[in-house]
Amino acid sequence: MPADYHSHTPLCRHALGDPEAYVDAALAAGLTEYGISDHAPQVPEPFDDWRMLEADLPEYFRWIERARGHAAGRIPIRAGLECDWLAGSEAWIAALAARHAWDYLIGSVHYLGDWDFDNPKWLGRWAESDVAAVWTHYWQTYARMAESGLFDILGHPDLVKKFAHVPPGDLARYYEPAVDAIAASGCVIELNTAGWHKPCAEAYPAAGFLELACSAGVPLVISSDAHAPGEVGRDFARAIGLAKAAGYRETQLFEKRRRRSEPL
Ligand SMILES: [Zn+2]
Ligand SMILES: [Zn+2]
Repeated sequence: MPADYHSHTPLCRHALGDPEAYVDAALAAGLTEYGISDHAPQVPEPFDDWRMLEADLPEYFRWIERARGHAAGRIPIRAGLECDWLAGSEAWIAALAARHAWDYLIGSVHYLGDWDFDNPKWLGRWAESDVAAVWTHYWQTYARMAESGLFDILGHPDLVKKFAHVPPGDLARYYEPAVDAIAASGCVIELNTAGWHKPCAEAYPAAGFLELACSAGVPLVISSDAHAPGEVGRDFARAIGLAKAAGYRETQLFEKRRRRSEPL
């Protein structure tokens, strides 16, 4: 099984389990590597209620070391962060990047302006929104994130569909400019299996996006976005099928922000 690089810890206040249980799950799933990428701190604090604080970073590093100790060489344990792409956050992300010998940084768009649109708390705001306008804003933001050059992996590409708010018609008009920006950036995207368990009932991204990304030469990782040990490596066999159908023949491995490929 490929590596699973997108997983969380209880420090973000909405994930469960200890490092030993996550590592045991990664071993049981037969993953090549296991990576931890909790929601990064964001200033000004407290920014919201679903991430670690800057003061939690030392405990986060201890959590990763505990995972490495438990793995005891049976599986490589990689250190990452899932950072939020926010207007004006470049200097903060660059500062976070310098705080540790990260293996990779994931960039994610969870916010459009002040709205964390994937938070079920604000579902009412979706009801008042023009879905096509939100999609346009989302994909422009996603392309800017790719162009920033701050991230190794771009998270859950079409998260905007989480609650099944999707504009009518061919979605390629949204995908194509974003895929062009991602391909030019050299970033890797993830095929995130968590979407299969959300109202959209599809992996992130949809097959149509994945096919365009593969044709454009955008490399891929497969991720569970685990918030509990039982979710590590979840639906990876199904994801491999989707990736292969889109044309992918390899996935990527990261160590100290350098990547190499392994056959899918
Ligand atoms: Zn989360
Ligand atoms: Zn995320």
